[in-house]
Amino acid sequence: MEILFFGGADTVVILYVTRLAAPAGAALNLIVACRGSVMAVAVSDRARSVARFLATDLPLGLKNLFLPAFCRNCGVRILTEENLYFCDDCWSKIELVEDPKCPRCGRPHSARVGFDAVYNFVCSECAAQKLRITNTYAAGIHADTLRDAIHLLKFGRKSHVARPLGRLLIERALPGMDAGSYDLLIAVPLHRNRQRERGYNQSELIAEQVGDAFPNADIKIALRRVKDTPSFSMLGARERKKLIKKAFRTLPGVDVRKKRVLLVDDVVTTGATTNECARVLRRAGAERVDVLTVAVAKRLS
Ligand SMILES: [Zn+2]
Ligand SMILES: [Zn+2]
Repeated sequence: MEILFFGGADTVVILYVTRLAAPAGAALNLIVACRGSVMAVAVSDRARSVARFLATDLPLGLKNLFLPAFCRNCGVRILTEENLYFCDDCWSKIELVEDPKCPRCGRPHSARVGFDAVYNFVCSECAAQKLRITNTYAAGIHADTLRDAIHLLKFGRKSHVARPLGRLLIERALPGMDAGSYDLLIAVPLHRNRQRERGYNQSELIAEQVGDAFPNADIKIALRRVKDTPSFSMLGARERKKLIKKAFRTLPGVDVRKKRVLLVDDVVTTGATTNECARVLRRAGAERVDVLTVAVAKRLS
């Protein structure tokens, strides 16, 4: 006899396997327990849905039994592969970008400023800068589960995390966009040293995930990062801006003239990197550059 456990946020499912002497051979009994206390034996809806899940996706069901996965954020057992390393509960708590927000940097206005706002106005930080970006579209705020997921994609060698992040962009950012208006999808490039180390460019993977949602756009590798800048995480806006200057070039043979470009990035913090990419693309003749990013950093004030 073997008892195996797997479960979601508030339900633990126990698959109770017995070998009976009866001619039927192995018998499976599903017992559903809610927060530890046994509620029903193979009669509840939850038990039926788990049984259905096991029947429709047996390989995944078996993988879950023998190679248990736990949520990176809260530690509960994960039953589906929808969000890979995160449970549905944590994924659904990702802080999303809501209106009113600044169209330039994509960040929501603080509650204090945005309380009475009925439209998306340009924030004072963006208004004070010479920006080459017209609009930034972001799915969520760079915090908690979303930050952990992006971290896994960038530093944990988990390239397939691009899949749920791409899905999040399509669900959350795409509805506010004119998807048919773009000619090119261009990922923010990594320096070749960084890309060699990582094995891929996470922004390219995200661009591939969302590519089909932009019916008139080609995915192009159009920019090269010529300056290997140190990690930006500890730097302020002014230092980032200085370091990123002249860090990008357009690749020879790529024509961006009169093209409407959607620049794809994983995280936009101060916008220095995307704005510098946009500057280079606009100088090469691009008509307009918008940004699509999985996450934006929270406004400090
Ligand atoms: Zn969780
Ligand atoms: Zn702004």
